[in-house]
Amino acid sequence: MAGGAYIIIALFFGLAGGVVGRLKGSSFLIWFLISGLIPVVGLLVALVYRMERDEPQRACPRCGKVVPLADALCTCCGQELEWVEADERLAIGR
Ligand SMILES: [Zn+2]
Repeated sequence: MAGGAYIIIALFFGLAGGVVGRLKGSSFLIWFLISGLIPVVGLLVALVYRMERDEPQRACPRCGKVVPLADALCTCCGQELEWVEADERLAIGR
């Protein structure tokens, strides 16, 4: 019984992760397998991975609010934000 339920859950998360992977231009099969083997974590990784690629973000140096990298002003405190190079984006994203 428990095994059957796990298979259903794994299939559900596998499909969800596969669709997310497909939407961000990656392989449906790869993300289906990842999300199916480690259901919750795989789907979360697929979602986070997509967010990082589509819309890089950074924290405001004054108030700490996370804002889109493209923003020139902090939407929280109005702090002017400097242009960030690609290398720094990765460091900030961690
Ligand atoms: Zn701010």
